[in-house]
Amino acid sequence: YFWPCLDSNEAALGGSGLVGKAIHKVVNEDDTSKDETWVFLSSKDGDLVDRKATEAIFEKHKPTHVIHLAARVGGLFHNMAKKVEFFRENMLINDNVMECCRIYQVKKLVSCLSTCIFPDKTTYPIDETMLHNGAPHSSNLGYSIAKRLVDSMNHCYHEQYGCQFTSLIPTNVYGPHDNFNVQDGHVIPGLIHKCYLAKQKGEDMVLWGSGTPMRQFIFSEDLARLIVWVLREYKEIEPIILSVGEEDEVSISDVAKMICSAMDFKGQLINDTTKADGQFKKTASNKKLRTYKPDFKFTPIQEGIKQAVDWFVENYSVARK
Ligand code: NDP
Repeated sequence: YFWPCLDSNEAALGGSGLVGKAIHKVVNEDDTSKDETWVFLSSKDGDLVDRKATEAIFEKHKPTHVIHLAARVGGLFHNMAKKVEFFRENMLINDNVMECCRIYQVKKLVSCLSTCIFPDKTTYPIDETMLHNGAPHSSNLGYSIAKRLVDSMNHCYHEQYGCQFTSLIPTNVYGPHDNFNVQDGHVIPGLIHKCYLAKQKGEDMVLWGSGTPMRQFIFSEDLARLIVWVLREYKEIEPIILSVGEEDEVSISDVAKMICSAMDFKGQLINDTTKADGQFKKTASNKKLRTYKPDFKFTPIQEGIKQAVDWFVENYSVARK
């Protein structure tokens, strides 16, 4: 997680997550940020589950603007196994961050939700107005409820205290600096790691589940550009979905094939259908985003996957895995 401090003199620290690192890169390449001082923090700077540690961070950096990315994050199988921890840690982190933003009079807080927290039984495409319209998929119940509360509390803080707290809803993110753990990670980084190992060992690659579920994926640097835009220009308390279009939805099998090709893996791709598939689809609409940013260009998925694969291969010894 990290907080950018605009119009302040804080030193920049290294951000550590998939999205945080991408924002760091985008901000470094961007002219507007010359008038802003960005501070990127990781859990080494303090555990946000702990209220005192959170207060110490705010006391030290006195941020004026906060992008809140800190979360216990994981893929389907990790979420299924640790529902209580996913709820409690995220709920505590979010409560500490929001309350400190109020106390320290932060001018704007942008928190991060996820398209995977939308109702399970719904109509498609999903849009921002449907967030609370039904129970989430049971596989990530703990994570979803903790995240949904952020939206509810953004409204409470705005109505009671006039706080400018908002949230964004990214679809599945992938890119350099991801968590490539096969067991706990998300689908793209997990498959990249599996493909790497299969190639090394000269074995076939096993894809968990049928491969038929459909997903939208956003490249981390595209998301980073949009998050910086939200911080600077988006004025609503209501959340905004940050996703590629509905037409860019791809199946998990297609993604696996793209990874094999980017990795130059020549073995077989085999499905293990005894493993869970998760939701079949969760198509999200990016219509609201398009009304604000009609010309935004997303990185084509083959190109993004190639960059993520190349980063993983080059950084194998240091990558989270
Ligand atoms: P990462 O796991 O890559 O990064 C998580 C960040 O949170 C790290 O900087 C980590 O610090 C920090 N963190 C975790 N727990 C704590 C804690 N207790 N105290 C302080 N810091 C903590 O996550 P992503 O970059 O993928 O996710 C960023 C945000 O985007 C999250 O809110 C996530 O829910 C959301 N999101 C992610 C999606 C995805 O596909 N990845 C999809 C949709 C939403 P450290 O490295 O030091 O542990």
